[in-house]
Amino acid sequence: MNRVILSVVVPVWNEEQNIEPFYEVLEPVVHKETSGAYEIIYVDDGSSDKTAAAINGLIRRNKQVKLLSLSRNFGKEIAMAAGIAQASGKAVMTIDGDGQHPPKCIPEFVAAWKQGAQVVVGVRVTNHSEGFIKKYGSKLFYSLFNGLSGVSMVPGSSDFRLIDREVQQEFVKLHEPQTITRGLIDWLGFKRVYIKYAAEKRVAGDAGYKVRKLMRLAVNSFVSLSPKPLYAFGYLGLIITLVSFVLGSAVIVEQLLLGDPWQWEFTGTAMLSILVLFLVGLILVAQGVLALYVSYIHTQAKDRPLYVINRRESVGLPTDNS
Ligand code: UDP
Ligand code: MG
Repeated sequence: MNRVILSVVVPVWNEEQNIEPFYEVLEPVVHKETSGAYEIIYVDDGSSDKTAAAINGLIRRNKQVKLLSLSRNFGKEIAMAAGIAQASGKAVMTIDGDGQHPPKCIPEFVAAWKQGAQVVVGVRVTNHSEGFIKKYGSKLFYSLFNGLSGVSMVPGSSDFRLIDREVQQEFVKLHEPQTITRGLIDWLGFKRVYIKYAAEKRVAGDAGYKVRKLMRLAVNSFVSLSPKPLYAFGYLGLIITLVSFVLGSAVIVEQLLLGDPWQWEFTGTAMLSILVLFLVGLILVAQGVLALYVSYIHTQAKDRPLYVINRRESVGLPTDNS
């Protein structure tokens, strides 16, 4: 028996001032959209302020509000994953608890889902509150990400998204501690639709994602999606080795064997540098080879399924739509 149509997962960390105003905006929209068949799951990501108390206040008024309380601050990515795993709706929506993802756009997400989309991704078009580093950092991130991972991610894709229950069921099977939730959802595939939204200003408080944290997030998502950065050094080594080999051979032949007919007059230091360059190149090549083995282990260790079936679109096979 599954009555809940839409589960809304809200990760919150030290958002005590935002809980109440955000709920006042979110609840009416979700209520109307599902005729009351919804649940709002707050994931308290180890807040040290009165966030949990504020949520408990909501729960006393509305039994469809739930609280999942993590034992400490695990970070938004893990908090979202935890909430998604607990959701019982036919669709699961993730939304920031600071008001930056406007709840008024939720009907668009639900409409796209009802028309058959299994993943509906919110694409951020403007952001008033973003600093220079965050803005260009995220541009750089998306272009690097797409180049390296082979999974294409539309720039501005955010965690403001809706996934079908089928996608959720596949998502909970993945156990990768060091990754970003949206990267995994993108890897899963399924029919997707993009919806543009204008990011709002944060209602109160500070953005928890400081630049350092964002950098770590970016590094983690690269490492978890692709071994290509490792290969890059191998290629670099190959180029250095080849160039210094050619240079070194030329010097040996011209200067040492033929007695310097063209008067290159390479000094001993120059020859030594070429030798060092050659050896450094060799070491990098060796690292590149090592990278091949590491990436083999890396792929094995992630233990992802070989493929993911889209049951809704498969025909003539047993389906287990739980
Ligand atoms: N958040 C969280 N755990 C954290 C950091 C943030 O659950 O460690 C929540 C936060 O309360 C908010 C959402 O994730 O609801 C987005 O965080 P924030 O506004 O700090 O990030 P940004 O808007 O810069 O992406
Ligand atoms: Mg925010």
